[in-house]
Amino acid sequence: MSDVTVGDLEAAIRNVPDFPQPGIQFKDITPVLGDARLFAGAIDLLVDKHKDAGIDACVGIDARGFIFAAAAAKQLGTGFVPVRKKGKLPWKTHEESYSLEYGEATVAIHQDALQPGARVLLLDDLLATGGTAAAAVSLLKKIGAEIVEIGFLIELGFLNGREKMNGAPINSLITY
Ligand code: AMP
Repeated sequence: MSDVTVGDLEAAIRNVPDFPQPGIQFKDITPVLGDARLFAGAIDLLVDKHKDAGIDACVGIDARGFIFAAAAAKQLGTGFVPVRKKGKLPWKTHEESYSLEYGEATVAIHQDALQPGARVLLLDDLLATGGTAAAAVSLLKKIGAEIVEIGFLIELGFLNGREKMNGAPINSLITY
């Protein structure tokens, strides 16, 4: 376990106003990822409590979730499973669509990525409206996986995204 605190992570996150469009304050996590101590500390804070929890796989959401889930998988000694944007996975998939502010998006998972009953940690960088993570939760439900926890580096609490997680336990390191 490292000595990195949530406060250290919060201090490193860069707030970029009006990106990618006016009115959005983008949470830039690249300063956390680029710092060996902070990156390792963030992974510790997300996964160390699950060391003896019998996790079978770490599932990451396209694209920044891959960074966290891959590192978590290595740390916990599990496999890594990607939830990808539609059209990227080459084998048979389950798909789930969800609404964006303008239009719709679809995410997919390989049907054989996990066994029914697999105990998984689902990880992404940031919980905003929750549409993306809720779609990932639906995909895991289709497979019959058990979501032990959904971990986020950041939660934008004022958007109430956690209400869409269907009761799955949520661990957000930093809440705004
Ligand atoms: P949502 O489906 O609204 O919960 O959006 C979640 C995804 O959009 C996350 O995986 C983030 O990568 C990205 N995202 C949404 N809002 C922000 C923000 N303010 N700063 C950085 N990334 C964001």
